[in-house]
Amino acid sequence: MMTVHDPSLAGGQSHDARPHAIVIGAGFGGLAAAVRLGARGYRVTVVEKLDEPGGRASQFRQDGFTFDAGPTIITAPFVFEELWALCGRRLSDDVDLRPLDPFYTVRFHDGQEFHVNGDDKAMETEIAKFSPGDVAGYRRYLAESERCFQAGFTGMIDKTYATLGAMAGALPDLILRRAERSVYKLVSKYIKNEKLRQGLSFHPLFIGGNPMRSSGVLSLISYLEREYGVHYAIGGTHALVKGLAGLIKGQGGVIRTGVEVAEITVEYGRATGVRLADGEHLPASIVVSNADAGWTYTKLLANHPRKRWTDAKVDRAKYSMSLLVWYFGTDRRYEDVGHHTVMMGPRYGGLLHDIFDAKVLADDFSLYLYRPTATDPSVAPEGCDSFYVLSPVPNLDAGIDWTAAAEPYRRKIEAHLEATLLPGLGRHVVTQRLMTPVDFRDRLLSVKGAAFGMEPVITQLAWFRPHNKSEEVENLFLVGAGTHPGAGLPGVVSSAKILDKVVPHASTVV
Ligand SMILES: Cc1cc2nc3c(=O)[nH]c(=O)nc-3n(C[C@H](O)[C@H](O)[C@H](O)COP(=O)(O)OP(=O)(O)OC[C@H]3O[C@@H](n4cnc5c(N)ncnc54)[C@H](O)[C@@H]3O)c2cc1C
Repeated sequence: MMTVHDPSLAGGQSHDARPHAIVIGAGFGGLAAAVRLGARGYRVTVVEKLDEPGGRASQFRQDGFTFDAGPTIITAPFVFEELWALCGRRLSDDVDLRPLDPFYTVRFHDGQEFHVNGDDKAMETEIAKFSPGDVAGYRRYLAESERCFQAGFTGMIDKTYATLGAMAGALPDLILRRAERSVYKLVSKYIKNEKLRQGLSFHPLFIGGNPMRSSGVLSLISYLEREYGVHYAIGGTHALVKGLAGLIKGQGGVIRTGVEVAEITVEYGRATGVRLADGEHLPASIVVSNADAGWTYTKLLANHPRKRWTDAKVDRAKYSMSLLVWYFGTDRRYEDVGHHTVMMGPRYGGLLHDIFDAKVLADDFSLYLYRPTATDPSVAPEGCDSFYVLSPVPNLDAGIDWTAAAEPYRRKIEAHLEATLLPGLGRHVVTQRLMTPVDFRDRLLSVKGAAFGMEPVITQLAWFRPHNKSEEVENLFLVGAGTHPGAGLPGVVSSAKILDKVVPHASTVV
């Protein structure tokens, strides 16, 4: 049995006898971690730099419009159900989650649309619309996607990869699934039509991966969506954040916002708490960091000697792309535009190369357009629409001067939307805000302004990723996009589940 000493009790600072756990960051990973630690007997304090919980999933209100800042496609609702169940509640007690149909529409450059949903017959009709000869291949692709789900999701998502031995355990399945082959290659094995190849392979972009080199195992997302649906939380994704914050409060936990951690304090190789930017020290028996993993090691443990995650190794790692996100509200509704639209540009592989490898801001782009008012009019004033559009762009390694580049790039996107899905857009925008890679670095403290942390390439997954139980410091644990299993809501929420395996139960803390 592991035991840890609880220094937070030494000074008698609290009347609450439970051992104290500090969670740095109130992203989905940090909030899920707090719920799990609360359920395991800890008194939890979440310390968040921003003014409200949510992290990338924060929400802002402007001129009567409500904008989700980040995640919008909610898959795998069971990962949330589990957290509510730990608190003796049901997700539906607090969050009105609605399944979407279609899940999303992929719109190609020539205007042709591919509507994706969970109905096999409807999907086969869609596939046949593009290429009747690909229907049989699509069925075989789905079967492969299910096998990838068993190997990569069921088999890996909440496992600890603290040792190479554990990694070796996962290898047979990965070899069988030819995990080294990219998602695009895997899809192309079954599907001949180029548009369908794109429409079935772009998903790694939602977790920071390049479909041309992310492991084919990530095609599990097709099965995940088909089996468990794509959902929307009424009020926006932030309804889930508020729900989690409510669970934490119900457990007697505290979320302190507007408070930045400057350092994780360490004595004799063990985390003893955190020092805030204003100098205050918060003692704790365990510390969980939901901050960017690279940032955690290079900044919050800057003064601590590190064996594995040295500054040089963190700098050498491959990082995901970044994003430019334009949030805007219109004084009219665009009834023909669905809830989620992926707008493919004229190039696919070439554009991905420009973003991930050449790191140049290309003249063309692919976009994702979010219109929550298609399902939920409450997020905009009556008769209006709330939108965001995002464009994957190179991370800050590219050296792009975003103070100069952002506005012309945004204008190009606006012109494209105006010429395609949103006629007259320029005349109807009544409120707006822009987020660039610089905000990912300065606001969310992400290394290189990457929107999804380290890129999910096979050499940076599982054991190769920063571990959930820190390799550098005892009693320090990591959750969120930078650790195993990686970015995306199912991933970061599952990273917190791993704490149940690596954090000692509070009853063992002396
Ligand atoms: C625009 C966008 C769209 C996305 N769309 C989807 C989607 O549709 N579906 C999906 O599943 N995923 C999506 N994702 C990915 C998903 O949002 C993220 O992977 C996930 O939200 C990351 O959660 P996290 O817990 O790792 O941390 P974050 O949300 O990054 O939270 C970390 C928190 O830690 C805080 N913090 C950092 N350092 C400190 C410090 N020193 N002191 C105090 N606090 C600190 C930060 O302020 C932040 O609040 C999207 C991401 C973006 C950016």
